Amino acid sequence: MIDVLKRPFVSGTMHWHKNLKVSTTETERRFQGNGLPDHPTGRFPVQKGTPAYKYYAEIPAHGYPNAAAIPIKPWNLDVTVPRDPSVQAQPTCIDQLTTGMALAGGTFHLEVATDAQDRPVDPNAALPLDRCWGHPYDTQYHYHGPSQTCFGEASRGPANARTRHSPLVGYAIDGFGIYGPRGEDGEIVRNRDLDVCHGHTHAITWNGKKVVMYHYHLNGEYPYSIGCFRGKPVTVPGSGHGWH
Ligand SMILES: [Zn+2]
Ligand SMILES: [Zn+2]
Repeated sequence: MIDVLKRPFVSGTMHWHKNLKVSTTETERRFQGNGLPDHPTGRFPVQKGTPAYKYYAEIPAHGYPNAAAIPIKPWNLDVTVPRDPSVQAQPTCIDQLTTGMALAGGTFHLEVATDAQDRPVDPNAALPLDRCWGHPYDTQYHYHGPSQTCFGEASRGPANARTRHSPLVGYAIDGFGIYGPRGEDGEIVRNRDLDVCHGHTHAITWNGKKVVMYHYHLNGEYPYSIGCFRGKPVTVPGSGHGWH
């Protein structure tokens, strides 16, 4: 579990203009946008003298003196996934950085980073994120961890939401939905309630209808968001293939 209270944050506040259009056909759901979130982020480039600086300054970054110097920039997000995905016989490993699109405007990334010795580590432990569990990589703003914090009142689970399943907060690149941390009974889902890809199957509202369907959950236990794909993932143009 992540100890949220001990986690250093990327401080400061920046505001953005989200542009995300989600359109559907009979068979597809298309996301077109600028990758920017509808909520404030921390200040990037990470400023000298802030608690997060030393962590970022240690990490090399392509085209920048180090990772602390990376700003957030708009990019051409254009991803088309199946509208009604189906569970495949075998799960698929994640081989690109982007794992999903948040309705808040940013994207979800792989929950693996590399440390200075090139060893795989939990990105949430390796680098401080902002208060929305996000930061830029290659200038693309993305989330790690239980990132529902900034996805609106309902996603955070206020009193009136504690008896219900969390709402949809995004879509994975295999087309399945990503939901906040509360399961059918309104309790926070634990990893023991989820499969290896961090999802499960029960009745949800999908395209306006109640259907029994697979979906992913965000929670506070590793891998927090998506561990692998139950459906067939598409490739996200402009998403890196390294580990971060
Ligand atoms: Zn569920
Ligand atoms: Zn990252």
